[in-house]
Amino acid sequence: AISGPPSEARPEDISALPRFKGGSLAITNLDMSYGDLAVLKGVSLTVKPGTVTCVIGPSGSGKSTLLRCLNRLVEPKGGDVLLDGASTLAMKPEKLRRRVGMVFQHFNLFPDHTALENVMLSLTKVKGIPVQEAERIAESRLADVGLAARKHHRPGSLSGGQQQRVAIARALAMDPEVILFDEVTSALDPELVKGVLNLMADLGRRGMTMVVVTHEMGFARKVADQVIFMDEGRVIEAGTPAAIFDTPKSARLKHFLAEVL
Ligand code: ADP
Ligand code: MG
Repeated sequence: AISGPPSEARPEDISALPRFKGGSLAITNLDMSYGDLAVLKGVSLTVKPGTVTCVIGPSGSGKSTLLRCLNRLVEPKGGDVLLDGASTLAMKPEKLRRRVGMVFQHFNLFPDHTALENVMLSLTKVKGIPVQEAERIAESRLADVGLAARKHHRPGSLSGGQQQRVAIARALAMDPEVILFDEVTSALDPELVKGVLNLMADLGRRGMTMVVVTHEMGFARKVADQVIFMDEGRVIEAGTPAAIFDTPKSARLKHFLAEVL
């Protein structure tokens, strides 16, 4: 069993840690289809700097596609996404992805590289940062996710939760303005979920702008500044956690909550 050394403890005083400079997103009338299948149908929402937006909704409602449009892993068919006021559709996708990072359900780490090397690789390869400087940044980001003591471990000797935290450190290393999380705890053993969610909550408290697709309703209620409920490619309701969970308006959201809560 992999138990946590002291370095993995949750930082007690977040205010003592450096703050991130989170960016804003303005999404208007976003349309996306796969062939004839319309998957996003006029999605609009605003994400304020340094806030956490949780996106909930049934499987197939378009949540992952929405995230993928935000860093152009897929190209929207219509509408626009502004990052700090500038259209992301006019940016080079590679540049956009440095500013809008993404963490996936399956961590996609390189199995033959250590945690440190996994975080360093994008810095040296994508950003062209010299090795020594990349190592310094990577160590600092691994410390951010509580894994300083495990930097020389390969993914295979880390727990799923630790691997996901390496993936989060890798996203942080690019110094993004926004990080997108797509069901990042769904593949984890239940006892490892909380550590990753706590880390994400801490990043939010440090000012990172985050858009989080999640089935973790407890996290959404506690951590989100706004919750977006999607169904069939549309935003059905958006509001504070209290509005969404305590006073849902639409029959569809009521039905969804009855299924998942
Ligand atoms: P969610 O993340 O909410 O489960 P997705 O965005 O993954 O929803 O999928 C929305 C719809 O788009 C679903 O009907 C799904 O089957 C379809 N879809 C997703 N990815 C593809 C793809 N690469 N090709 C064709 N259809 C897809
Ligand atoms: Mg999905």
